[in-house]
Amino acid sequence: MPRSDTGHQCIECSVVSCKFHDQQGRCSLDRIQVEPTPMAYTGEAADESMCGSYKNR
Ligand code: SF4
Repeated sequence: MPRSDTGHQCIECSVVSCKFHDQQGRCSLDRIQVEPTPMAYTGEAADESMCGSYKNR
């Protein structure tokens, strides 16, 4: 059963080097995969997680 918020989410992103970045601060994909960063144990968001859907332009 689909979640009630499906279709109403917005992925804001500032990674301008990604081909899916729309230049207006958003991701153009319908969904992304967030993945853990290997061997990162700091507990900080920037170290522990990353966008697995990133593709270089
Ligand atoms: S795929 Fe990931 S890195 Fe690329 S624009 Fe979307 S959220 Fe940002």
